[in-house]
Amino acid sequence: MSKHFQVLIIGGGNAGISVAAKLLLKKEDLLVGIIEPSDKHYYQPAWTLVGGGTFNLQKTVRAEASVIPKGALWIKDAAKTFEPENNQVTCACGTVYTYDYLVVAPGIQLDWHKVKGLKETLGKNGVCSNYAFDQASYTYECIKNIQQGETAIFTSPSTPVKCGGAPQKIMYLAADYFKRKGLLNDVSVSFVSGGGMIFGVKKYADALLKLVSSYNINLNFKYDLIEIDGEKKLATFKLMESEGGKTVIMPFNMIHVTPPQSAPDFIKESKLANAAGWIDVNKNTLQHTQYANIFALGDATNTPNAKTGAAIRKQAPVLVANLLALINGSKVLPAQYNGYGSCPLVAGYGKLILAEFDYSNTPVETFPFNQAKPRWSMWLLKKYVLPWMYWNKILKGTA
Ligand SMILES: Cc1cc2nc3c(=O)[nH]c(=O)nc-3n(C[C@H](O)[C@H](O)[C@H](O)COP(=O)(O)OP(=O)(O)OC[C@H]3O[C@@H](n4cnc5c(N)ncnc54)[C@H](O)[C@@H]3O)c2cc1C
Repeated sequence: MSKHFQVLIIGGGNAGISVAAKLLLKKEDLLVGIIEPSDKHYYQPAWTLVGGGTFNLQKTVRAEASVIPKGALWIKDAAKTFEPENNQVTCACGTVYTYDYLVVAPGIQLDWHKVKGLKETLGKNGVCSNYAFDQASYTYECIKNIQQGETAIFTSPSTPVKCGGAPQKIMYLAADYFKRKGLLNDVSVSFVSGGGMIFGVKKYADALLKLVSSYNINLNFKYDLIEIDGEKKLATFKLMESEGGKTVIMPFNMIHVTPPQSAPDFIKESKLANAAGWIDVNKNTLQHTQYANIFALGDATNTPNAKTGAAIRKQAPVLVANLLALINGSKVLPAQYNGYGSCPLVAGYGKLILAEFDYSNTPVETFPFNQAKPRWSMWLLKKYVLPWMYWNKILKGTA
Protein backbone atom coordinates (compact mmCIF):
# COMPACT_ATOMS: atom_id res chain seq x y z
CA MET A 1 0.00 0.00 0.00
CA SER A 2 1.23 3.49 -0.87
CA LYS A 3 2.58 5.53 2.02
CA HIS A 4 2.50 8.78 0.05
CA PHE A 5 -0.64 10.59 -1.07
CA GLN A 6 -1.27 13.74 -3.06
CA VAL A 7 -4.11 14.46 -0.66
CA LEU A 8 -4.24 12.76 2.73
CA ILE A 9 -7.48 13.16 4.70
CA ILE A 10 -7.70 12.65 8.48
CA GLY A 11 -11.21 11.47 9.43
CA GLY A 12 -13.79 9.62 7.34
CA GLY A 13 -16.84 11.27 8.92
CA ASN A 14 -19.24 13.78 7.38
CA ALA A 15 -16.49 16.27 6.47
CA GLY A 16 -13.70 13.92 5.36
CA ILE A 17 -15.91 11.82 3.08
CA SER A 18 -17.65 14.88 1.57
CA VAL A 19 -14.28 16.40 0.66
CA ALA A 20 -12.81 13.14 -0.69
CA ALA A 21 -15.86 12.57 -2.89
CA LYS A 22 -15.88 16.12 -4.23
CA LEU A 23 -12.13 16.07 -4.95
CA LEU A 24 -12.37 12.82 -6.89
CA LEU A 25 -15.38 14.04 -8.88
CA LYS A 26 -13.34 17.03 -10.00
CA LYS A 27 -10.02 15.21 -10.50
CA GLU A 28 -10.41 11.46 -10.69
CA ASP A 29 -6.68 10.68 -11.02
CA LEU A 30 -5.84 12.31 -7.66
CA LEU A 31 -4.15 9.94 -5.20
CA VAL A 32 -6.35 10.33 -2.10
CA GLY A 33 -5.90 8.48 1.22
CA ILE A 34 -8.37 8.61 4.13
CA ILE A 35 -7.16 7.76 7.63
CA GLU A 36 -10.20 6.59 9.64
CA PRO A 37 -10.13 4.07 12.53
CA SER A 38 -13.85 3.27 12.73
CA ASP A 39 -15.49 0.61 10.57
CA LYS A 40 -18.86 2.36 11.05
CA HIS A 41 -20.11 5.66 9.64
CA TYR A 42 -22.95 7.44 11.45
CA TYR A 43 -25.65 9.92 10.45
CA GLN A 44 -25.67 11.69 13.83
CA PRO A 45 -28.38 14.32 13.18
CA ALA A 46 -31.06 11.60 13.31
CA TRP A 47 -30.09 10.59 16.86
CA THR A 48 -32.38 13.36 18.13
CA LEU A 49 -35.31 11.63 16.43
CA VAL A 50 -34.14 8.22 17.70
CA GLY A 51 -34.19 9.67 21.24
CA GLY A 52 -37.72 10.87 20.57
CA GLY A 53 -38.79 7.39 19.44
CA THR A 54 -39.50 8.46 15.87
CA PHE A 55 -36.51 7.17 13.82
CA ASN A 56 -34.97 3.74 13.36
CA LEU A 57 -31.51 3.68 14.97
CA GLN A 58 -30.21 1.17 12.43
CA LYS A 59 -30.87 3.66 9.63
CA THR A 60 -28.28 5.99 11.18
CA VAL A 61 -25.32 3.65 10.63
CA ARG A 62 -23.57 2.12 7.61
CA ALA A 63 -20.30 0.32 7.06
CA GLU A 64 -17.46 2.82 6.62
CA ALA A 65 -16.31 0.80 3.59
CA SER A 66 -19.61 1.61 1.86
CA VAL A 67 -19.06 5.39 2.06
CA ILE A 68 -15.39 5.52 0.99
CA PRO A 69 -15.51 7.11 -2.49
CA LYS A 70 -14.35 5.04 -5.45
CA GLY A 71 -10.71 5.87 -6.12
CA ALA A 72 -9.83 6.79 -2.51
CA LEU A 73 -7.76 4.51 -0.32
CA TRP A 74 -8.99 3.80 3.23
CA ILE A 75 -6.27 3.49 5.88
CA LYS A 76 -7.99 1.87 8.86
CA ASP A 77 -5.96 3.46 11.62
CA ALA A 78 -6.01 6.54 13.84
CA ALA A 79 -3.76 9.53 13.15
CA LYS A 80 -1.64 10.24 16.20
CA THR A 81 1.02 12.86 15.53
CA PHE A 82 1.78 15.46 12.87
CA GLU A 83 5.10 16.70 11.50
CA PRO A 84 3.86 19.49 9.26
CA GLU A 85 7.38 20.67 8.36
CA ASN A 86 8.05 17.23 6.84
CA ASN A 87 4.52 16.68 5.47
CA GLN A 88 4.20 13.64 7.66
CA VAL A 89 1.50 11.96 9.78
CA THR A 90 2.18 9.04 12.12
CA CYS A 91 -0.63 6.66 12.98
CA ALA A 92 -1.41 4.84 16.22
CA CYS A 93 0.07 1.59 14.86
CA GLY A 94 3.34 3.40 14.04
CA THR A 95 3.07 3.70 10.25
CA VAL A 96 4.21 7.02 8.81
CA TYR A 97 2.35 8.55 5.85
CA THR A 98 3.48 11.51 3.77
CA TYR A 99 1.44 13.91 1.69
CA ASP A 100 1.52 16.85 -0.68
CA TYR A 101 -1.66 18.28 0.84
CA LEU A 102 -3.41 17.43 4.10
CA VAL A 103 -7.11 17.82 5.00
CA VAL A 104 -7.84 17.46 8.71
CA ALA A 105 -11.39 16.53 9.77
CA PRO A 106 -11.43 14.33 12.90
CA GLY A 107 -14.61 15.82 14.44
CA ILE A 108 -15.11 16.88 18.04
CA GLN A 109 -14.27 14.93 21.20
CA LEU A 110 -16.98 14.00 23.73
CA ASP A 111 -15.53 14.56 27.22
CA TRP A 112 -17.88 12.30 29.21
CA HIS A 113 -15.19 11.95 31.88
CA LYS A 114 -15.40 15.65 32.77
CA VAL A 115 -18.73 15.10 34.58
CA LYS A 116 -18.04 13.10 37.75
CA GLY A 117 -20.07 9.88 37.91
CA LEU A 118 -21.50 10.24 34.39
CA LYS A 119 -19.73 7.35 32.65
CA GLU A 120 -20.72 4.97 35.46
CA THR A 121 -24.43 5.79 35.27
CA LEU A 122 -25.04 6.64 31.61
CA GLY A 123 -27.67 4.34 30.12
CA LYS A 124 -29.34 3.56 33.46
CA ASN A 125 -30.99 5.32 36.42
CA GLY A 126 -32.77 7.72 34.03
CA VAL A 127 -29.44 9.17 32.79
CA CYS A 128 -29.47 9.34 28.98
CA SER A 129 -27.84 11.10 26.03
CA ASN A 130 -28.47 11.39 22.31
CA TYR A 131 -24.77 12.11 21.81
CA ALA A 132 -23.83 8.45 21.29
CA PHE A 133 -25.18 5.84 18.89
CA ASP A 134 -25.54 3.19 21.60
CA GLN A 135 -27.29 5.57 24.01
CA ALA A 136 -29.92 7.39 21.93
CA SER A 137 -32.60 4.67 22.22
CA TYR A 138 -32.47 4.81 26.02
CA THR A 139 -33.54 8.47 25.89
CA TYR A 140 -36.95 7.40 24.61
CA GLU A 141 -37.21 4.79 27.38
CA CYS A 142 -36.61 7.54 29.93
CA ILE A 143 -39.21 9.85 28.33
CA LYS A 144 -41.81 7.06 28.30
CA ASN A 145 -41.13 6.21 31.96
CA ILE A 146 -41.84 9.70 33.31
CA GLN A 147 -44.89 9.77 35.59
CA GLN A 148 -47.07 12.45 37.12
CA GLY A 149 -45.18 14.62 39.64
CA GLU A 150 -41.74 13.72 38.27
CA THR A 151 -38.84 15.84 37.00
CA ALA A 152 -37.04 15.83 33.63
CA ILE A 153 -33.80 17.81 33.20
CA PHE A 154 -32.01 18.60 29.92
CA THR A 155 -28.43 19.91 30.09
CA SER A 156 -26.14 21.82 27.75
CA PRO A 157 -22.48 22.51 28.65
CA SER A 158 -20.64 25.83 28.42
CA THR A 159 -18.13 24.33 25.94
CA PRO A 160 -18.70 24.39 22.17
CA VAL A 161 -20.82 21.39 21.14
CA LYS A 162 -21.78 19.78 17.87
CA CYS A 163 -25.25 20.95 16.90
CA GLY A 164 -25.90 23.60 19.54
CA GLY A 165 -29.64 23.04 19.14
CA ALA A 166 -29.58 19.29 19.90
CA PRO A 167 -29.59 19.67 23.73
CA GLN A 168 -32.96 21.43 23.53
CA LYS A 169 -34.53 19.68 20.51
CA ILE A 170 -34.93 16.50 22.55
CA MET A 171 -36.46 18.56 25.37
CA TYR A 172 -39.21 19.88 23.07
CA LEU A 173 -39.92 16.34 21.87
CA ALA A 174 -40.13 15.14 25.49
CA ALA A 175 -42.37 18.07 26.51
CA ASP A 176 -44.64 17.38 23.54
CA TYR A 177 -44.75 13.71 24.54
CA PHE A 178 -45.77 14.65 28.11
CA LYS A 179 -48.38 17.05 26.70
CA ARG A 180 -49.93 14.40 24.48
CA LYS A 181 -50.13 12.05 27.50
CA GLY A 182 -51.85 14.81 29.52
CA LEU A 183 -48.90 14.98 31.92
CA LEU A 184 -47.32 18.32 31.04
CA ASN A 185 -48.89 20.29 33.91
CA ASP A 186 -47.72 17.68 36.43
CA VAL A 187 -44.17 17.14 35.15
CA SER A 188 -41.36 19.60 35.87
CA VAL A 189 -39.22 20.16 32.75
CA SER A 190 -35.99 22.15 33.15
CA PHE A 191 -33.28 23.28 30.73
CA VAL A 192 -29.99 23.82 32.55
CA SER A 193 -27.37 25.37 30.31
CA GLY A 194 -23.81 26.60 30.66
CA GLY A 195 -24.62 29.18 28.00
CA GLY A 196 -26.17 32.57 28.64
CA MET A 197 -29.13 32.46 26.27
CA ILE A 198 -31.47 30.05 24.51
CA PHE A 199 -30.04 30.61 20.98
CA GLY A 200 -27.51 32.97 19.44
CA VAL A 201 -29.71 34.32 16.63
CA LYS A 202 -32.42 36.68 17.91
CA LYS A 203 -35.08 35.74 15.37
CA TYR A 204 -34.96 32.06 16.40
CA ALA A 205 -34.33 32.81 20.09
CA ASP A 206 -37.62 34.75 20.19
CA ALA A 207 -39.47 31.81 18.60
CA LEU A 208 -37.86 29.35 21.03
CA LEU A 209 -38.77 31.44 24.07
CA LYS A 210 -42.42 31.28 22.98
CA LEU A 211 -42.09 27.52 22.70
CA VAL A 212 -40.45 27.28 26.13
CA SER A 213 -43.32 29.20 27.65
CA SER A 214 -45.97 27.09 25.88
CA TYR A 215 -44.40 23.95 27.38
CA ASN A 216 -43.90 25.56 30.86
CA ILE A 217 -40.16 24.82 30.76
CA ASN A 218 -37.91 26.26 33.51
CA LEU A 219 -34.79 27.94 32.14
CA ASN A 220 -31.50 28.05 34.06
CA PHE A 221 -28.49 29.66 32.38
CA LYS A 222 -24.75 29.72 33.17
CA TYR A 223 -24.88 26.43 35.07
CA ASP A 224 -22.57 23.53 34.10
CA LEU A 225 -23.32 19.95 35.08
CA ILE A 226 -20.34 18.76 37.15
CA GLU A 227 -21.53 15.57 38.86
CA ILE A 228 -24.25 12.94 38.67
CA ASP A 229 -25.23 10.42 41.30
CA GLY A 230 -27.40 8.03 39.27
CA GLU A 231 -28.54 5.85 42.15
CA LYS A 232 -29.65 8.79 44.27
CA LYS A 233 -30.92 10.58 41.14
CA LEU A 234 -29.14 13.81 42.00
CA ALA A 235 -27.36 16.16 39.57
CA THR A 236 -24.88 18.79 40.75
CA PHE A 237 -24.52 22.01 38.76
CA LYS A 238 -21.98 24.79 39.14
CA LEU A 239 -22.72 28.41 38.36
CA MET A 240 -20.05 30.13 36.22
CA GLU A 241 -17.19 31.52 38.33
CA SER A 242 -17.97 34.98 36.93
CA GLU A 243 -21.44 34.71 38.51
CA GLY A 244 -20.23 33.54 41.93
CA GLY A 245 -19.52 29.83 41.26
CA LYS A 246 -22.05 28.36 43.73
CA THR A 247 -23.16 24.74 43.34
CA VAL A 248 -26.78 23.58 43.23
CA ILE A 249 -28.06 20.01 43.57
CA MET A 250 -31.18 19.12 41.59
CA PRO A 251 -33.12 15.87 41.92
CA PHE A 252 -34.29 14.22 38.68
CA ASN A 253 -36.23 11.25 37.42
CA MET A 254 -34.68 11.55 33.97
CA ILE A 255 -31.75 13.68 32.85
CA HIS A 256 -30.66 14.08 29.22
CA VAL A 257 -26.97 14.99 29.25
CA THR A 258 -25.06 16.78 26.52
CA PRO A 259 -21.43 16.10 27.48
CA PRO A 260 -18.72 18.78 27.53
CA GLN A 261 -16.82 18.73 24.23
CA SER A 262 -13.42 19.84 22.98
CA ALA A 263 -10.98 19.36 20.11
CA PRO A 264 -9.60 15.79 19.94
CA ASP A 265 -6.60 15.38 22.27
CA PHE A 266 -4.21 14.47 19.42
CA ILE A 267 -5.13 17.78 17.74
CA LYS A 268 -4.75 19.78 20.98
CA GLU A 269 -1.25 18.36 21.38
CA SER A 270 -0.23 19.11 17.78
CA LYS A 271 1.31 22.08 15.99
CA LEU A 272 -1.92 22.47 14.05
CA ALA A 273 -3.86 23.71 17.09
CA ASN A 274 -4.56 27.24 18.30
CA ALA A 275 -4.30 28.07 22.01
CA ALA A 276 -7.77 26.61 22.67
CA GLY A 277 -6.85 23.33 20.93
CA TRP A 278 -8.85 23.72 17.69
CA ILE A 279 -7.26 23.42 14.21
CA ASP A 280 -6.19 26.94 13.37
CA VAL A 281 -7.51 27.80 9.91
CA ASN A 282 -8.51 30.99 8.12
CA LYS A 283 -12.25 31.19 8.74
CA ASN A 284 -13.02 32.09 5.11
CA THR A 285 -10.54 30.02 3.05
CA LEU A 286 -10.21 27.06 5.50
CA GLN A 287 -6.44 27.02 4.86
CA HIS A 288 -4.22 26.55 7.91
CA THR A 289 -2.86 29.84 9.22
CA GLN A 290 0.76 28.55 9.27
CA TYR A 291 0.99 25.61 6.88
CA ALA A 292 -0.21 26.50 3.37
CA ASN A 293 -0.64 22.86 2.26
CA ILE A 294 -2.95 22.02 5.16
CA PHE A 295 -6.71 22.63 5.21
CA ALA A 296 -9.37 21.70 7.74
CA LEU A 297 -13.15 21.69 8.07
CA GLY A 298 -15.91 20.31 10.25
CA ASP A 299 -16.26 20.20 14.02
CA ALA A 300 -12.53 20.22 14.87
CA THR A 301 -11.68 23.68 13.52
CA ASN A 302 -11.53 27.08 15.19
CA THR A 303 -14.02 28.64 12.71
CA PRO A 304 -16.72 30.37 14.78
CA ASN A 305 -19.73 28.85 13.01
CA ALA A 306 -22.31 26.44 14.43
CA LYS A 307 -20.66 23.01 14.41
CA THR A 308 -23.09 21.16 12.15
CA GLY A 309 -23.24 18.94 9.10
CA ALA A 310 -25.08 21.81 7.44
CA ALA A 311 -21.98 23.98 7.84
CA ILE A 312 -19.85 21.23 6.29
CA ARG A 313 -22.12 21.18 3.23
CA LYS A 314 -21.04 24.79 2.57
CA GLN A 315 -17.42 24.35 3.74
CA ALA A 316 -16.59 21.32 1.59
CA PRO A 317 -16.97 23.03 -1.84
CA VAL A 318 -14.96 26.02 -0.61
CA LEU A 319 -12.15 23.82 0.67
CA VAL A 320 -12.10 21.73 -2.51
CA ALA A 321 -12.04 24.79 -4.80
CA ASN A 322 -9.17 26.33 -2.82
CA LEU A 323 -7.18 23.11 -2.58
CA LEU A 324 -7.51 22.41 -6.30
CA ALA A 325 -6.50 25.99 -7.09
CA LEU A 326 -3.37 25.50 -4.99
CA ILE A 327 -2.61 22.17 -6.68
CA ASN A 328 -2.96 23.90 -10.07
CA GLY A 329 -0.39 26.49 -9.06
CA SER A 330 -2.74 29.40 -8.33
CA LYS A 331 -1.48 32.00 -5.85
CA VAL A 332 -5.03 33.08 -5.08
CA LEU A 333 -7.55 30.98 -3.18
CA PRO A 334 -10.79 31.64 -5.07
CA ALA A 335 -13.50 30.51 -2.64
CA GLN A 336 -14.73 31.92 0.67
CA TYR A 337 -16.89 30.34 3.40
CA ASN A 338 -19.31 32.82 5.01
CA GLY A 339 -19.98 30.91 8.22
CA TYR A 340 -23.27 29.39 7.09
CA GLY A 341 -24.72 27.01 9.62
CA SER A 342 -28.16 25.57 10.06
CA CYS A 343 -30.03 24.00 12.91
CA PRO A 344 -33.29 22.15 12.31
CA LEU A 345 -34.89 22.96 15.68
CA VAL A 346 -37.38 20.21 16.36
CA ALA A 347 -40.21 21.98 18.21
CA GLY A 348 -42.32 18.88 18.93
CA TYR A 349 -43.61 15.87 16.98
CA GLY A 350 -44.36 17.10 13.44
CA LYS A 351 -43.09 20.67 14.07
CA LEU A 352 -39.75 22.20 13.16
CA ILE A 353 -38.13 25.65 13.08
CA LEU A 354 -35.40 25.72 10.42
CA ALA A 355 -32.71 28.11 11.67
CA GLU A 356 -30.16 29.15 9.03
CA PHE A 357 -27.58 31.88 9.65
CA ASP A 358 -24.00 33.04 8.93
CA TYR A 359 -20.94 34.27 10.86
CA SER A 360 -22.73 37.50 11.77
CA ASN A 361 -25.71 35.54 13.20
CA THR A 362 -27.87 37.02 10.45
CA PRO A 363 -30.61 34.67 9.22
CA VAL A 364 -29.92 33.40 5.67
CA GLU A 365 -33.05 31.43 4.89
CA THR A 366 -33.54 29.05 1.97
CA PHE A 367 -37.34 29.04 1.73
CA PRO A 368 -39.70 31.89 0.80
CA PHE A 369 -41.54 31.79 4.16
CA ASN A 370 -40.79 32.66 7.78
CA GLN A 371 -38.61 29.73 8.93
CA ALA A 372 -38.91 30.75 12.61
CA LYS A 373 -42.46 29.42 12.58
CA PRO A 374 -42.69 25.71 13.53
CA ARG A 375 -43.79 23.83 10.39
CA TRP A 376 -44.81 20.33 9.36
CA SER A 377 -43.04 20.73 5.99
CA MET A 378 -39.70 21.38 7.73
CA TRP A 379 -40.26 18.34 9.97
CA LEU A 380 -40.62 16.24 6.81
CA LEU A 381 -37.38 17.78 5.55
CA LYS A 382 -35.54 16.70 8.74
CA LYS A 383 -37.09 13.26 9.01
CA TYR A 384 -37.05 12.14 5.38
CA VAL A 385 -35.29 14.50 2.97
CA LEU A 386 -32.06 15.31 4.86
CA PRO A 387 -31.17 11.69 5.77
CA TRP A 388 -31.69 10.70 2.12
CA MET A 389 -29.61 13.65 0.95
CA TYR A 390 -26.84 12.74 3.39
CA TRP A 391 -26.34 9.16 2.22
CA ASN A 392 -27.06 9.76 -1.48
CA LYS A 393 -25.80 13.25 -2.25
CA ILE A 394 -23.61 14.77 0.47
CA LEU A 395 -21.37 11.72 0.96
CA LYS A 396 -21.18 11.31 -2.82
CA GLY A 397 -19.96 14.88 -3.24
CA THR A 398 -22.94 15.99 -5.30
CA ALA A 399 -24.70 18.24 -2.78
C1 LIG B 1 -27.33 14.37 18.66
C2 LIG B 1 -26.78 15.12 17.48
C3 LIG B 1 -27.63 15.86 16.68
C4 LIG B 1 -27.13 16.57 15.59
N1 LIG B 1 -28.02 17.24 14.81
C5 LIG B 1 -27.58 17.87 13.70
C6 LIG B 1 -28.50 18.49 12.81
O1 LIG B 1 -29.71 18.45 13.02
N2 LIG B 1 -28.02 19.12 11.72
C7 LIG B 1 -26.67 19.15 11.45
O2 LIG B 1 -26.30 19.70 10.42
N3 LIG B 1 -25.77 18.57 12.27
C8 LIG B 1 -26.19 17.93 13.39
N4 LIG B 1 -25.30 17.29 14.21
C9 LIG B 1 -23.86 17.55 14.04
C10 LIG B 1 -23.17 16.74 12.94
O3 LIG B 1 -23.41 15.37 13.10
C11 LIG B 1 -21.68 17.04 13.01
O4 LIG B 1 -21.49 18.44 12.96
C12 LIG B 1 -20.90 16.38 11.88
O5 LIG B 1 -21.02 14.99 11.94
C13 LIG B 1 -19.43 16.79 11.95
O6 LIG B 1 -18.71 16.18 10.93
P1 LIG B 1 -17.14 15.90 11.11
O7 LIG B 1 -16.72 15.16 9.89
O8 LIG B 1 -16.44 17.13 11.53
O9 LIG B 1 -17.09 14.91 12.35
P2 LIG B 1 -17.68 13.43 12.41
O10 LIG B 1 -18.79 13.25 11.43
O11 LIG B 1 -17.97 13.18 13.86
O12 LIG B 1 -16.49 12.53 11.90
C14 LIG B 1 -15.22 12.54 12.49
C15 LIG B 1 -14.50 11.27 12.04
O13 LIG B 1 -13.13 11.36 12.41
C16 LIG B 1 -12.73 10.09 12.90
N5 LIG B 1 -11.57 10.25 13.78
C17 LIG B 1 -11.55 10.56 15.09
N6 LIG B 1 -10.28 10.54 15.55
C18 LIG B 1 -9.49 10.22 14.49
C19 LIG B 1 -8.08 10.04 14.35
N7 LIG B 1 -7.24 10.14 15.38
N8 LIG B 1 -7.61 9.71 13.12
C20 LIG B 1 -8.45 9.58 12.05
N9 LIG B 1 -9.79 9.73 12.16
C21 LIG B 1 -10.30 10.05 13.37
C22 LIG B 1 -13.97 9.57 13.63
O14 LIG B 1 -13.93 8.15 13.77
C23 LIG B 1 -15.09 10.03 12.71
O15 LIG B 1 -15.41 9.07 11.73
C24 LIG B 1 -25.75 16.55 15.30
C25 LIG B 1 -24.89 15.77 16.09
C26 LIG B 1 -25.40 15.06 17.17
C27 LIG B 1 -24.46 14.22 18.01
